[in-house]
Order: sequence, then C-alpha cells, then structure tokens
Amino acid sequence: MVLTPQELERYSRQIMLPGFGEEGQTALKNSTALVTGVGGLGGTVALYLAVAGIGKLILVRGGEVRLDDMNRQILMTDDWVGKPRVHKAKETLAKINPHIEIEAIPEYVTSQNVDSLVKQADIAIDCAFNFEERDLLNDACVRWNKPMVETAMNGMEAYLTTIIPGKTPCLSCIFPEKPQWDRWGFGVLGAVSGTLACLAALEAIKLITGLDKPLLGQLLTMDLSRLEFAKRRPYHDPDCPVCGSRTKQGIAEAIAFLEITKEEDLASMRY
Ligand SMILES: [Zn+2]
Repeated sequence: MVLTPQELERYSRQIMLPGFGEEGQTALKNSTALVTGVGGLGGTVALYLAVAGIGKLILVRGGEVRLDDMNRQILMTDDWVGKPRVHKAKETLAKINPHIEIEAIPEYVTSQNVDSLVKQADIAIDCAFNFEERDLLNDACVRWNKPMVETAMNGMEAYLTTIIPGKTPCLSCIFPEKPQWDRWGFGVLGAVSGTLACLAALEAIKLITGLDKPLLGQLLTMDLSRLEFAKRRPYHDPDCPVCGSRTKQGIAEAIAFLEITKEEDLASMRY
C-alpha cells in the first residue's frame, strides 16, 4: 500500500528524519503490531505506534478499567471505569489517528489464542502483567519466528530488550527461573511506565523501518529513581528449551553458507 497525500503530510516530520524517509513510513503502514496488555505500558506503546502510522494494531487485554489504573492509563477516561479497557483504547486511538486499523480483543493471552494472534502480526510488544502470558508470547514468537519487544518494570526500575528468535537471547534465556512477580505488590508511576513504553515503541519502529540500531541481544536496565541506565548482555543459551533448536538451526545455516562461499571461492581460484 502506498502513502496518500494526507499521510505524507501527517507524517512529514518523521519522514524527514535521516534513514526514515517514505520507505520507512510505507514499511510502517504495511505492518501489523500485536500489543499484549493495554495498561500504563501497552496503552502508551499503542499510542506511539498509532501516531507514527502503524498499519494495524492488535490490542489484546481482558478485564475492565479500575479506578487505580487511572494514574497511568492515558487512553482511558474517568467515565470508562468499570468497562472493558480495550474498547476504550480503540476508540481513543481511532480519534487520534483515523488512518490506522485497530483490532481490540477483550481477552487475555492464552495457549488457545496465542498462535493465531502472533501469526497475524509482524512484531509483538510484550506488555503483559504476568509471566504466564509473557512466556506464552515468547514461545509463540520463537515458534513463528516473529520479533518481540520485551518490557518489564518493578517500581522505579524498568527493563527493555528486543528479541529476534534464534539470533538473540529469548525471554526464557534471560529469565530461566521466573522472578517472584506480584501484580499488586509494587507501586507504579505513570511517568515511569510511560518512559519505558516510549522506548518500546521506538524499538518497534526501528525494527520495522530499519531506522538506526535496535537493542538486539542487550538488556537495557533503568533505575529511574536515580536516572541510571545500563546495558547488559544476557546469556544466549544454545540449549534453551524455547529457542535452542532455532539458534542451532541458525548457526548450522551460517556454517553451511560459509562453506558454500568457501567452495565457490576455491572454484573461482581454480579457473
Ligand atoms: Zn531462549
């Protein structure tokens, strides 16, 4: 699909970025992003992908808006407390950018729906609040070879990485044992979840458009109480139960490619 004159005007300030251009904008328009969780993180990720002109958003989150969600959920309005949150997210985003397609699915990620969700998407952004949904999404992204932006937070701390199955550590490589994760056990400021969400949306935009360098194979850790940022290189486990076979397949293909190249080099030397 090509860009309309209206879209060219709407996105002109990002199209003028070096390395973005109309090619980047067209790539965004032709992409589908799956966002699991529509809270302080997922809602803000969805907002920035929407204003950037992603072609289609699939928003997945069961449950209603609670009053204690309202300190961070920027797509919600006070009169919507008690109602299903994905529908309000869709309504708000459609008003902000009517050029994009939005599918709102009022469900949690389960083993029954995860494969069909991931297959429809070009990229997934994991903003779920529990490790069950995170693991299901990670497994499915590895299975269907789809990139996944991983976000997590705990109080004033935030974590971000981008996973390419077989090429970078997956979520299971990074967290082979699940941390104790109490949904109600930590406080959260909207500005903290929003900061992490903006970086996650930026990662997705970089991957889709080829703009600059995404955070591949690195875990960005942020302590926002002190504004300390660090990058770590998590272990990529070749025997990971989730991504190990895909990693070994990638290595075998790389070796085979090198050997073919070597044989061709030798052949050209002979003649
Ligand atoms: Zn892994």
